[in-house]
Amino acid sequence: MKPKQTAGTLYVVATPIGNLDDISQRAIRILAEVDLIASEDTRHTGRLLRHLGIRTPLTSYYREKEHHKAELLLPRLLAGEDIALVSDAGTPGISDPGAVLVGMARENDITVVPVPGPSALTAALSAAGLREGAFYFGGFPPARQEARKKFLTPLAALPCTLVFYESPHRIRKCLADCLEIFGDRPALLFRELTKMHEECLQGTLSQLLAGTRERVRGELVLVIHGAPAATRDQPAELDDLIRWYRDQAGSSLKDAVRRISSDLAISRSRLYRRALAIWNDKPPESSPDDGA
Ligand code: SAM
Repeated sequence: MKPKQTAGTLYVVATPIGNLDDISQRAIRILAEVDLIASEDTRHTGRLLRHLGIRTPLTSYYREKEHHKAELLLPRLLAGEDIALVSDAGTPGISDPGAVLVGMARENDITVVPVPGPSALTAALSAAGLREGAFYFGGFPPARQEARKKFLTPLAALPCTLVFYESPHRIRKCLADCLEIFGDRPALLFRELTKMHEECLQGTLSQLLAGTRERVRGELVLVIHGAPAATRDQPAELDDLIRWYRDQAGSSLKDAVRRISSDLAISRSRLYRRALAIWNDKPPESSPDDGA
């Protein structure tokens, strides 16, 4: 259906996740041109707007009042006002409010225009270097352990990269549950992306757990390798995993073979021949599962 000629446009605008320089030229222009900015936290967005020299009026749009606020904003869009939706940081709708207003706008044939930009999800994935291609984004795992384990268990079989947001005071508990449910897979823990104290801890889940203090601070994204079963079926991915242990985890050949064979239930002697060839930078001759 064609949008009504008189209706305004809803722009979904990504804002920086830490580094103010990450805002796009287009986002700045849209924020300056719209009639109204609907923001998760008007004080937070106000600081960004002051930094950018933008004086567009602000209204609040936060999780607890999403339905109520969306109902107030919809008539304004229908009456022809252009509105930009922003969250505290990153992309609205990604573990942030946004979906209710966007859904209502779509149901009413209002044009919704994404203005893409920063997100902790894509920032972490882009720097993770995992070759699985597909990924599963779980948002925030549940806070209570029982619910968290229930949430994580079906993900153990997924043959794709797993990505989670987690709060600093729960990260150790979450890592411990991931270790128990997924096994000791390679993983990366990104902290304070794009900020002054940005860092990335990489290793296996047990190494990450050992390397994470009780009182970790800052914002975190956890990226975990997909289910090993997939790698067992795909020799090229298995080779990548062996290289990952050699180059990224800094494991010894013996340690890498021990870990992979236990995670993937692959015979140690077959895997050893393949891993040895990779360690010596020679192309492996055959997959450990093809009867070699
Ligand atoms: N909409 C945002 C996005 O597009 O990334 C995410 C909002 S969610 C409420 C906030 C969570 O995102 C944080 O708890 C953390 O897990 C992750 N996050 C946001 N900024 C981050 C950063 N600079 N570094 C690491 N993680 C970040």
